[in-house]
Amino acid sequence: MLPAGLLNVAYIAASILFILSLAGLSNQETARRGNINGIIGMLIAIAATAAYTLGWFEGTAPFTLGAQGLGVLAGAVLIGTLIGGFMAARVAMTSMPELVAVLHSFVGLAAVLVGLSSYMAPLQQLSGTEQLVHEIEIFLAVFIGSITFTGSVIAFLKLRGSLSGRPLTLPGRHLLNLGMLLGCVYLGYDFVGQADHGGLTPLLIVTGISGLIGIHLVMAIGGADMPVVVSMLNSYSGWAAAAAGFMLQNDLLLVTGALVGSSGAILSYIMCAAMNRSFISVILGGFGGGDAPAANGEPKPGEGKGRDDVIEFDVSDTIALLRGASSVIIVPGYGMAVAQAQHSLSEVVKVLRKAGVEVRFGIHPVAGRLPGHMNVLLAEANVPYDIVLEMDELNDDFPETDAVLVIGANDIVNPSAQTDPTSPIAGMPVLEVWHSATVVVMKRGMASGYAGVQNPLFFNENSRMLFGDAKTNVDAILVGLRG
Ligand code: NDP
Repeated sequence: MLPAGLLNVAYIAASILFILSLAGLSNQETARRGNINGIIGMLIAIAATAAYTLGWFEGTAPFTLGAQGLGVLAGAVLIGTLIGGFMAARVAMTSMPELVAVLHSFVGLAAVLVGLSSYMAPLQQLSGTEQLVHEIEIFLAVFIGSITFTGSVIAFLKLRGSLSGRPLTLPGRHLLNLGMLLGCVYLGYDFVGQADHGGLTPLLIVTGISGLIGIHLVMAIGGADMPVVVSMLNSYSGWAAAAAGFMLQNDLLLVTGALVGSSGAILSYIMCAAMNRSFISVILGGFGGGDAPAANGEPKPGEGKGRDDVIEFDVSDTIALLRGASSVIIVPGYGMAVAQAQHSLSEVVKVLRKAGVEVRFGIHPVAGRLPGHMNVLLAEANVPYDIVLEMDELNDDFPETDAVLVIGANDIVNPSAQTDPTSPIAGMPVLEVWHSATVVVMKRGMASGYAGVQNPLFFNENSRMLFGDAKTNVDAILVGLRG
């Protein structure tokens, strides 16, 4: 038997490690340490919870699986570890948001299942106010968990491209949401205080309705706003876990859920600010879906134009431009991640800096497919942190820049965000690359970006298109610069 106090020590240690982990993840230089703190914290949390569940702590467990539970628990942990390890090892950086969405759905589903089982087979017999509070916890866990589960599944399908990124804007959708919400509140009222599991039917109906709310909320959000959806579901999954922590009387789950819930909410706020959206309008949906028709019926800038209307560059032109430049800004986007061009790019940067060229990277907050995507890739390729700048730090410097290399980026350098109020990305701050002397856009063809919007940048007088896979072209530029 382990002393009961040790359980609290383990929980406090894990909570502190999780806080240190979040603090570490806020900065590239400390991110690795932050991750390690998180891993250690999670190991402590799993070991302590397992020991608690098996009744190894003196007089603490309200229930215990006993010795025979060890095999079941070890089997479950082993299977979970294998699946998690396999998925994490196989996932490409570009598919990370999909994986994150799937993991959020697991948290939501777990909260629903814990809620239902906690109602059908309570850990302790409660009565009076205690029972009422417990039932409210169950209701909240099932409600938030079900929204998180179905919302995350839809987000997964949208991010994967299995579902269209266009927002589903049903007529009267806000009223529909309100009606479903009020229905859940009424059923919640019906659910509490019933004897002999009589509240199961309203609870199951709440599960179904909140599942529909989750589907509808995420279906209504367009492709361009998906970054906010991912962080929003992250926040929901935290609150679902916190609710499960209340039900299971597990302080660590409560603290961890609250940390995830609040950090996800802060991230959503930051993403909304980066995209110039109000949080409420994103949650309510209907934004960011594909090409909206121009208000006056006129074609939008760049619309209908194709490859013949742009000025093409080849690799040798690009090399000549870079050799003659004294200041260069590189803007990476999702295409750089797809092509895995960051390592060759890092070498190009070294050669240019050695030749005395000032080279900096401009990072848009929603570049790529997950927050910090570009920073992670550039750090992996050992690009010095001090030349990797946020959009706000260098957006005013483009007029004094000789050459900009846009590598696999599209939406984040789209001027129509500023010029076309009907665009799905209207109002989103973008990197104003067109103010520089020459912009070289490296991409494979004329395809639009994630938001599905045409990009008039490609047709500007000072824009040059270098078509082809980003890695192949960066490799060729490297060979040329070294030669
Ligand atoms: P975009 O998706 O706008 O554009 C990427 C471009 O890369 C495409 O136009 C594509 O053009 C090109 N590309 C693809 N593969 C290659 C390749 N192998 N070599 C060269 N080019 C390639 O990316 P951005 O980074 O500019 O913008 C991010 C978008 O993703 C925003 O709309 C954002 O809202 C959204 N988003 C962001 C998330 C986040 O958290 N950061 C999460 C979810 C969505 P082509 O096919 O012609 O080569």
